[in-house]
Amino acid sequence: MQDLARRLAAGDRRALARAITLVESTRPDHRAEAVALLAALPPRQALRIGLSGTPGVGKSTFIESFGLMLTGQGLRVAVLAVDPSSARSGGSILGDKTRMERLSRDPRAFIRPSPSRAELGGVARRTRETVRLAEAAGFDVVLIETVGVGQSETLVAEMSDLFVLLLAPAGGDELQGVKRGIMEMADLILVNKADGELRPTALRTVADYAGALRLLRKRPQDPEGFPKALPVSAVEGGGLDAAWAEMQALDRWRRDNGRFDRRRAEQAERWFRAEVRAGLLARLDREPAAGSLDRLGTEVAAGRTDPVAAAAEMLRLLE
Ligand code: GDP
Repeated sequence: MQDLARRLAAGDRRALARAITLVESTRPDHRAEAVALLAALPPRQALRIGLSGTPGVGKSTFIESFGLMLTGQGLRVAVLAVDPSSARSGGSILGDKTRMERLSRDPRAFIRPSPSRAELGGVARRTRETVRLAEAAGFDVVLIETVGVGQSETLVAEMSDLFVLLLAPAGGDELQGVKRGIMEMADLILVNKADGELRPTALRTVADYAGALRLLRKRPQDPEGFPKALPVSAVEGGGLDAAWAEMQALDRWRRDNGRFDRRRAEQAERWFRAEVRAGLLARLDREPAAGSLDRLGTEVAAGRTDPVAAAAEMLRLLE
């Protein structure tokens, strides 16, 4: 364990992979080791960038080009995924190394697919810990990727310093059905595929979103002009440097204005509370309570026990 922590802190990618496997394990003895490991990590900070977009928008292409641009500048980049479909099917589509072949061979990069787990909350929990491990291993940028469905975007936004929404050029003038709540979380909207025949449409889409963003209420965590919409081409590389410059400008402003630390502090507290809640829920499955939820539930459904009395009995078992 001490050895693992030391190798991790030295930036050893194999040690990082092992540490991630440890935090993803559900075995109680592994969990205890993971908790000890997390507590022993050096307090390093990477820039955590959340990235969301519907399938086909070009997330893996973008991460590959953007990641290679960053590693080309000497930065170390970790790519993690929060994939709700892996929670459902047990198999992961996001973070699949074959999708980012060049980046995965880059010695400055580390790519890890989404942990498969029973529910999204569990995936998010382990991903938070994996972010910490990657930071401790000295990565400068941690990209956390998710598909634009349901809760996963909120979870990723809540564990990131910057949240980037990747969109495709939209034919017509509708705003691609992007929910207002998602727009409000975005720090940067990147309209991908701004190349070839799609470029004019992409630029129009950028203008549409820039207009829509201006109508949103100003947030205290933003300097003038943010959130922004920009065109990029993941395939040709156009606009990636501009997007990175905007991310850095926003990050610098937030650090200078205490917003970065405040956000991290809020996230840490929310993480702590979520962890306690998850721990309490896990007790339902342990002796002497194990099975009682189902048993009492059946009795309540059959009308043999009153719901309130059954709940009181259940809670007694957890004391
Ligand atoms: P993901 O499902 O969001 O990960 O999307 P992919 O990265 O797999 O890309 C989906 C499709 O869009 C692929 O056929 C890519 O080649 C294409 N694509 C991705 N980025 C661009 C881009 O910048 N320009 C163009 N023209 N096509 C792109």
